[in-house]
Amino acid sequence: MTEEINNLVERDAALEEIAARLGVRAERGRRFAELTSLRVGGAIDWVISPTTEEEAAAIVYELDQAGIGWRALGSGSNVLADDHDHHYVVLNMSEMKGEVRIEGDHVSVSAGYSLPRLCIDVARAGLSGIEGLGGIPGTVGGALFMNAGAYGHEIGTVTETVRVAREGKVVDVAGESIKWNYRHTSFKDGELLLGATLRLTPDDAEQIKARMDDAKKRRLATQPHGSRSAGCFFKNPPASTIGTGKIIDEMGMKGQRRGSAVVSPVHANFIVTEGENARAEDALALAEEIRERVRREQGIELEYEVELWRANPEPPIDTEEPPPTEKKE
Ligand SMILES: Cc1cc2nc3c(=O)[nH]c(=O)nc-3n(C[C@H](O)[C@H](O)[C@H](O)COP(=O)(O)OP(=O)(O)OC[C@H]3O[C@@H](n4cnc5c(N)ncnc54)[C@H](O)[C@@H]3O)c2cc1C
Repeated sequence: MTEEINNLVERDAALEEIAARLGVRAERGRRFAELTSLRVGGAIDWVISPTTEEEAAAIVYELDQAGIGWRALGSGSNVLADDHDHHYVVLNMSEMKGEVRIEGDHVSVSAGYSLPRLCIDVARAGLSGIEGLGGIPGTVGGALFMNAGAYGHEIGTVTETVRVAREGKVVDVAGESIKWNYRHTSFKDGELLLGATLRLTPDDAEQIKARMDDAKKRRLATQPHGSRSAGCFFKNPPASTIGTGKIIDEMGMKGQRRGSAVVSPVHANFIVTEGENARAEDALALAEEIRERVRREQGIELEYEVELWRANPEPPIDTEEPPPTEKKE
């Protein structure tokens, strides 16, 4: 215990020195409940908010050199962080907005820029390819990391290069070298995405806007609006002809409640939280109840689309045989 406290004291001193030297804001006392769209989750030791790509690249290099654990967070619209104290650094990327640069059909944008905002900007410039994503909350960095998609568009298919942090520098990675799967990419944990250059297709601005408005309208008609959610909680099962929302709905689980968490009456694949003191524990328990019933009644193993951030990683499962006990004569 004492050793742990000493380590944290040393870590805090090192972190304060790095943040001061690089001129990056570092704060204590923030909670995931303020930083995620589900509005749940416990205290975070440190939140660091870089404002430029160069600053972000430099800070993660220094943190890695000092052996200080960190995780990148965009708008927190796809994260369920548990209620415990999270003893690591959250790199808050949502303040690294930068400016959108449009040259012909190429669009360069920083990771902290808002995805809905970008969709509006490029539609106005007469560039098509991401208008289906216009209603997805979050940052460009989060969208790239998750390969966000909706209504026939996925960000990965239009990404020419991604800028990542390597050895303290901003480095270009070709979009085609990345695996863009269904809500999953080959980016590793510990890879910080700084920005991207998208290649879009010139089209009539009015028509692009009409398609974007249509996608937003369909979203409004089928998803809870103004509630605290993280979007679809589970992925659609690959082998099933019907989506997860319909599967859960057909089991009669809409409106099912666990404390402060409810299966949305509008869309059964959305878990929404309610109340001032909503708890991640409730959302997790409800999610596990859904998975258990779908497993039992449909034989389907639902996979989380939302990311679960545990304060304390699960202890590794001990698969080794216990050592043989010595026979005492
Ligand atoms: C109402 C609602 C509707 C939604 N609808 C859709 C939908 O239709 N389609 C869809 O795909 N998603 C949807 N989502 C989920 C979510 O909006 C997307 O996944 C979004 O792209 C996440 O962006 P974010 O900035 O909030 O990422 P966060 O939730 O902050 O982070 C998500 C992941 O990305 C990582 N990350 C974030 N930024 C960086 C970075 N700069 N570098 C490295 N890693 C990073 C985080 O570590 C985390 O692993 C919805 C969510 C809500 C609340």
